[in-house]
Amino acid sequence: MATVVTGAAGFIGGHLVEALVGAGHDVVGIDRRPVAARPGLRPLRCDLAAPDAETLRVLGSAGMVFHLAGRPGVRDTSPGVDAARVRDNVDATRTVVAAVPLDIPLVVTSSSSVYGGSRGLPCHEDDQLQPIGGYARSKAAAENVCAERLARGGIVAVARPFTVVGPGQRDDMALSQWVAAVAARQPVTVYGGLHRRRDVTDVADVVHGLQALSGLGRSGVVNLGTGVGHTLDELLRAVSQALGSEAVDIRVLTPPAGDVDCTLADTRRCAEWLGFVPRTDLQDVVARQVAASRALAAVPA
Ligand code: NAD
Repeated sequence: MATVVTGAAGFIGGHLVEALVGAGHDVVGIDRRPVAARPGLRPLRCDLAAPDAETLRVLGSAGMVFHLAGRPGVRDTSPGVDAARVRDNVDATRTVVAAVPLDIPLVVTSSSSVYGGSRGLPCHEDDQLQPIGGYARSKAAAENVCAERLARGGIVAVARPFTVVGPGQRDDMALSQWVAAVAARQPVTVYGGLHRRRDVTDVADVVHGLQALSGLGRSGVVNLGTGVGHTLDELLRAVSQALGSEAVDIRVLTPPAGDVDCTLADTRRCAEWLGFVPRTDLQDVVARQVAASRALAAVPA
């Protein structure tokens, strides 16, 4: 039976597909963006908010499903973004949840944004959710769709990743933007100030966590974060060091709604269920991200 990954053309989905194919899985990669076929990977192009019959058939006959497709980005203020978030984060999740048989392990990526930030203490999976902004609300709504599956006796594990970094990170994420700006000797935009903190998770650990979660075949919610907060200052220093750039011109802007001061994962459930806790070596992961973006830029368009 095939292992299905939705969002296979995306940042995390691409890394997950790579790991699954490497481990010998027969993968179907669903995305509305193109995914290149290769041994072990069959691409299936589809908009999950308006699925075709073949996609529903593939989801209905899979042995394991990872649902990563969605519209991320807390700072997106483009016209119609709220409706697009509902479509891609909630309606698409509804499609997947309805199509995958109840006894088939389904892993869904939610987001740490559902906590509304940390106020000093690490965020625990059982905390009352306080989603701020359209993105966080849409991810909380997607979790409710998963809870309905659980109530019907279905298997569904929900992962809440904390700021994922590494090669191929989305262009709209802060670290990617800083790498691009510092490399071009342009000013760096920082929202809220350098004292703000992020629990930063290496994409390799997120992929490991998602695979471990599917292997458990159990339901529940698990944070995928390190339990360590890094200041934006530390992050920016790692970028300057990786690029060998001494002076960085910083512009501090007021953060948009939903862009919280601090994120921090409680890692106890991750340790207990998955047998590991993500550990981020900031310098190493930023250097790998920089190397990947340089390699990409070297490829002619
Ligand atoms: P990404 O944008 O790189 O990948 C998402 C993919 O989903 C894209 O390739 C997109 O084309 C696809 N997609 C979106 N809507 C679709 C639809 N209706 N039908 C088919 N395909 C669709 O994002 P990412 O950073 O890889 O994030 C993957 C998942 O993890 C998302 O659900 C995101 O909300 C969640 N997440 C990401 C982070 C992070 O730091 N990157 C943190 C927490 C949660």
